[in-house]
Amino acid sequence: MIDLHAHTSASDGSLSFSELVTEAKRVGLRALAITDHDTVRCASMIRPGASVPLLIPGAELTVFDEGLGYKDIHILGLFLDTSDAALNSRLSLLESDRLAQKRATVARLRELGYDLDFEEVRREASGAVGRPHIAKALLRKYPGEFKSVSEVFQKLLARGKEGYVEREAGFSLRESVDLIHGAGGLAFVAHPLLYPYDSVKLLEDFRSLGGDGVEVYYDYIKNRPEERISAAENTRIIERYQGLARDLGLLESGGSDFHGAAKGQALGVFGAPDQVLDRLTAALRKPL
Ligand code: AMP
Ligand code: FE
Ligand code: FE
Ligand code: ZN
Repeated sequence: MIDLHAHTSASDGSLSFSELVTEAKRVGLRALAITDHDTVRCASMIRPGASVPLLIPGAELTVFDEGLGYKDIHILGLFLDTSDAALNSRLSLLESDRLAQKRATVARLRELGYDLDFEEVRREASGAVGRPHIAKALLRKYPGEFKSVSEVFQKLLARGKEGYVEREAGFSLRESVDLIHGAGGLAFVAHPLLYPYDSVKLLEDFRSLGGDGVEVYYDYIKNRPEERISAAENTRIIERYQGLARDLGLLESGGSDFHGAAKGQALGVFGAPDQVLDRLTAALRKPL
């Protein structure tokens, strides 16, 4: 099995680089991509030559595209040159937008009556601060009100809820594709079912901008428990995106979206078939 989507403590995952690699070896993954939100800090620790598991440097870029109307969608970049100057300078600029949004979210929560300050949130994170860190801080302070991070999202932090503050700026869809290609990588729409947008239109727009593929193999059951998706439905979803990928001429990717033991899927349980990696390396036309 291969896993092309995993987070570390450089974003909202809980394992460090070495802990994640140890776990990937333990569960017997053939390949693992490190795809933190809007940062390559951990992915850049990958040294070429490590082969079991094959470690793939990646990132999951957050897109806010005012022009096309896609807000808060995630684009995975795989096989990135993490030293790419354009990618790094854009990511560090974006980090301040991300922080501004999280500070504004804490201010909004205070208006809503929650006694929370930004330093408490920052202490939950060891890298890029995300809404899951805000959720964890709230869970710690208000155990009577929330039982899980997912419940905090449902009540407050999901896009459109009372505690959600829109980000001021982000990557456009085109910029996300161009940055990934500029860094030698392949670009994929992550977990397409999680957005309030028509998948066919999104994937067509993505492809017309040069996007390479779509995350077909994804565990919506574990990663969005509140949606109560059955195993049979998840299989149908995967088949639907396999069909769309085929019809639109897009590559397939897939992975666990591992964040650590506390959230979502464990490592080594859900991933993509090995042939997916063979097709990606053929499309890459560069040595790994
Ligand atoms: P942010 O980078 O601040 O936009 O936070 C995005 C992250 O929050 C996602 O990658 C997920 O890990 C998490 N997330 C988003 N929506 C939900 C949800 N409904 N339930 C649980 N976690 C979520
Ligand atoms: Fe996340
Ligand atoms: Fe995501
Ligand atoms: Zn992810």
